[in-house]
Amino acid sequence: MTSPATLLVAPITVDAFDAALAKAHQALAGGASAVEFRVDRQVLAVAQVCALVAASPLPCIITCRHACETGGFDGPEAARVELYAALAAAPKPPLGLDVELAKWEEHRALWRKLAPHVAVPASPRAGRSQLILSSHDFTGRPVDLADRLARMLAEPLCSVPKLAWKAQGLEDCALALRLLAQSPRPAVALAMGEAGMPSRILAKKAGAFMTFAALDKESGTAPGQPLLAEMIGLYRWNDIKPATKVYGVVGCPVGHSMSPAIHNAGFAETGFDGVYVPMRIEEGYENFTRALEAWIQSKELDFGGASVTIPHKENLLRMVEEQGGEAEVLATLIGAANTLGVDASRRLSAANSDYRGLLLPVLAHLGRTESGRLDGLRAAVVGAGGAARAAVAAFAAAGAQVTVFNRSLERAQELAQDFGVLAMPLEALAQTSFDLLVNGTPLGMTPNVDTSPLADGHPALKPGVVVFDTVYNPLETKLLRQAKVAGCACIPGTEMFVLQAAAQFEGWTGQPAPLAVFRNVLGRKLGR
Ligand code: NAP
Repeated sequence: MTSPATLLVAPITVDAFDAALAKAHQALAGGASAVEFRVDRQVLAVAQVCALVAASPLPCIITCRHACETGGFDGPEAARVELYAALAAAPKPPLGLDVELAKWEEHRALWRKLAPHVAVPASPRAGRSQLILSSHDFTGRPVDLADRLARMLAEPLCSVPKLAWKAQGLEDCALALRLLAQSPRPAVALAMGEAGMPSRILAKKAGAFMTFAALDKESGTAPGQPLLAEMIGLYRWNDIKPATKVYGVVGCPVGHSMSPAIHNAGFAETGFDGVYVPMRIEEGYENFTRALEAWIQSKELDFGGASVTIPHKENLLRMVEEQGGEAEVLATLIGAANTLGVDASRRLSAANSDYRGLLLPVLAHLGRTESGRLDGLRAAVVGAGGAARAAVAAFAAAGAQVTVFNRSLERAQELAQDFGVLAMPLEALAQTSFDLLVNGTPLGMTPNVDTSPLADGHPALKPGVVVFDTVYNPLETKLLRQAKVAGCACIPGTEMFVLQAAAQFEGWTGQPAPLAVFRNVLGRKLGR
């Protein structure tokens, strides 16, 4: 028997009949497959709730959540039982009725009143409401999740067990998918909070009964709930299948990363069966390895790899090296990696695609893509942080004569020493000539848009010179305007972003990245 498709449910807090109904229509238009009417506040009479269910354009879950699990209902249990029994016995009953397991067990005798009306999992009858027994912990991960699931499943009337808890880390997503796989019936297992967000997106992959997505920022009913429009448009809900491979961006924070938009659009364009999610992991090597181990070992996740950003680039390299995986030579030299690959036999690889994002556009501008060499080219790299380090590695390896210019000379010297290049104080840049200039500092970045590493009219800026600003917000920085006026070739920071993402995409999918799509998505994100 095939499981019915996972419901994409928009929660609606019911304050007034008409407003709730209007939101249900909004949910239908937005691509939801069901709504959850939260009637905890009891502003409608029982007959009105029945009328709302009858009028709803989408199947409904009715939830009158008790205050013991952060709901708004604190009345006598008999009142809830009366409401649910009336709904279940109505000519058009709701699809689901949600009761907390704890309250069900406490008032089992009262709740038996539902028995004649609700579906019985052992002998389901079409058209009857399904009882959802739920358990919520907004403070952390209960130690007895598997036991709670077993207790729900042991209740003869429980059609859908539902577990929701606050994720302690990204590893809770793997746990949620495992619980879903363990349940003999379609269940709900959701890790709340930002780290748990993938469990909501991947619920469909694991054949969950339902997952939730908010109509708008105000309508969300639990932390970490994505928006309905994001679920459909960004995470491609309708394309997620059991075999869909999972990728993501690891960082802290990750909420504002543009990588999900780029990679998901790339998967859609190329027809690759993948989904790319935000993977928040708190700072620290322990947190990093614990979470990623859980994802890598998960049978349910089909985890294929990740983009890794601040503060975990060094952690990625260390983990892959410690586990005997394959670390790219240049990533080891740079001391940081931003791309994790996990192959079918769970072997790990770490690469640094940032240096490709710097090297490839320069080679293309100089017509040297084929040779890949920059011998004789005088490259000035400004900065000595992560971006500058990747630039020095890329251009030194390609044969350029690299000089590092940095505000703190000591840091420039350390970087220069690692790659056998020269180091100068930032002020020396004013008297220096170069064929390629790379800005690896935040100078020029919003909100300091009037700053630049160069003074106006710098003598080295002339036709034939390439100026690469790694800053991509704004799209055209002051440095690039100065370079343009002087007739230099200009490379914006978006090219680094697009080409480093392209290298990741190609490594994971084995297909060329759709660069035009990547550029479009990034341009839209940056408001071009
Ligand atoms: P980082 O590790 O913090 O390094 C920042 C560097 O900039 C340091 O060398 C620092 O000098 C220098 N710096 C900071 N403020 C300065 C100022 N006011 N004047 C002169 N120098 C200053 O940062 P990062 O990760 O390398 O990132 C640097 C920039 O690269 C970011 O702003 C970002 O826009 C860009 N980036 C772009 C991409 C992309 O895909 N396009 C990717 C990564 C980064 P000290 O050593 O003296 O402190």
